[in-house]
Amino acid sequence: MAQVTEIRTLQEIDDESAALRAALEDVERRLRGSEELNEARREAAAVDGELADARRAQRRIEGEVEGLTAKIEPEEKRLYDGSVRNPKELTSIQHELEALKQQRSKLEDQLLEVMTNLDRIERDHGIAFRRLSQEEARWEKDQGDLKHEAVRLNDLITRADARREAQKLKVTPRNLQVYEEVRRRRGGVAVARVSGGTCGGCRVGIPESVRRQAFTADQLAQCPNCERILYVG
Ligand SMILES: [Zn+2]
Repeated sequence: MAQVTEIRTLQEIDDESAALRAALEDVERRLRGSEELNEARREAAAVDGELADARRAQRRIEGEVEGLTAKIEPEEKRLYDGSVRNPKELTSIQHELEALKQQRSKLEDQLLEVMTNLDRIERDHGIAFRRLSQEEARWEKDQGDLKHEAVRLNDLITRADARREAQKLKVTPRNLQVYEEVRRRRGGVAVARVSGGTCGGCRVGIPESVRRQAFTADQLAQCPNCERILYVG
């Protein structure tokens, strides 16, 4: 068979092999992780941290309120149980109590705010973790399918490689070298069809002498512009 025909077959095998390798790369990328899952993990971790912060704030304020109550109660007792009779001292206790109660009331307002916030965060937390478990389940299911796909693609690549090795033997070493060089330089496509007198690879007109050469059996014709190996028909 004509060399150019053998080279076209080689190019077909290489195209198929490149497509298979790209598909395998995509499968392997998806096997390493999914963007949706990563996003769900990030979101769950963020809302988890927010929840812990809010609960810490709640405990801290509650502790401070308790501390103030522990100070207020004995002072109130002293104020009303008749143990203090000095009016000046009674007034001073009253002032102190007012100050303490004001402080406690401020803290109680803060606590209310924290609790309201906590409600929202707990809702968000529930939503984020439900989404995370959905994404995890989906990812796990996909993993099975993707692993099968990777095995299938690897098998097809092995077969394409074997076919390439066999096909290479049908091309002379010199022509093979030309093919490999052009393929490397021209983005993997080393052959081009001549149609309407122009190169199908770069659309530049092909001189008549080169076109005639493309018809001959064993001599390769190359596009003077892009160097691709030309074929007709
Ligand atoms: Zn060309």
